[in-house]
Amino acid sequence: MSKNRAIISYICNRCQKTRMAMFPLSLDIKVDGRGLFEFVDTHKCKDDEVSANILFIDRENVVRSQVSISTEEKKDEKDAEKQALIATLAIPVPAKREFPKQSIIPDKRFKKFNIKEITVKDKLRQMIFSTDEEHSQVKEISVKSPLGFIEITANLTSLTDDKSATWWMDNIAKVLEEVVYVDEKVFAYLLSYVDNKIKRQVNETELIELEYICNSHIAIPTSSEETLEKYIKEGNTIFPNLAIFDSIYYKQILEECVNNDSITLFEIIGKISSKISISSFVSILHNLEKKSLIKLEKLQFFTVTDLMVE
Ligand SMILES: [Zn+2]
Repeated sequence: MSKNRAIISYICNRCQKTRMAMFPLSLDIKVDGRGLFEFVDTHKCKDDEVSANILFIDRENVVRSQVSISTEEKKDEKDAEKQALIATLAIPVPAKREFPKQSIIPDKRFKKFNIKEITVKDKLRQMIFSTDEEHSQVKEISVKSPLGFIEITANLTSLTDDKSATWWMDNIAKVLEEVVYVDEKVFAYLLSYVDNKIKRQVNETELIELEYICNSHIAIPTSSEETLEKYIKEGNTIFPNLAIFDSIYYKQILEECVNNDSITLFEIIGKISSKISISSFVSILHNLEKKSLIKLEKLQFFTVTDLMVE
């Protein structure tokens, strides 16, 4: 394990499982006025029911408290529980208020071909992420994530197909519900990526790419010098149909990943993708990962099983 990682571990109050995550110290995580930051751990909890825990973590990476939320129906009850828990920790109870709005500043390649506006109500982060209002409503679609914690409303052009657009938004909501930490920055790349694709239904490859983008600010891609050497020597055999132009980007992305221990995928997209589209970038990344030329370490919780403890 790298020295630049902290371990966050806690026991879930509901299912008693020990849940653990490796936390890259280089991540840019917002700490609130109480000195705490919040991560979300969505997992198969008691009775195999998927539930989300909001974790309040201090600067020493200790989980100070956890609030488990299973379904939307139980939300009010759990909200009260959360307030009570905060009160017992002598943490000032926030006054009941509207979720604060966080503006999405789109990437310059986002040309609004199909998506005009988007609003993401994120009940896990207690935040509303939104692009500036356009006031040119053509067609509005709304979706909810499986557990009901993410609500997306998108304003689209009349050219989009409702079924495909709903498919995309459903998948985005689902992925966001499982992400440990969300920063508004990721929506910039997400919008440019989805805008060109929304007319067609999501395929399996794109679903993985969607996960890359939604996790890009908490994922670190790594590779080694040997792997880069291997690519330089055998790249043509590993990827036989690659245009010379593309092979340059493959190499550049690999070079960024060699011995990388702290630079997030988000930062690498920023460096490289000014020259290519976001979708080309994530597609290359996906191909490199499929051939085991890079490894993507993403911040996620897993259950510590008896086997691992031995
Ligand atoms: Zn649990």
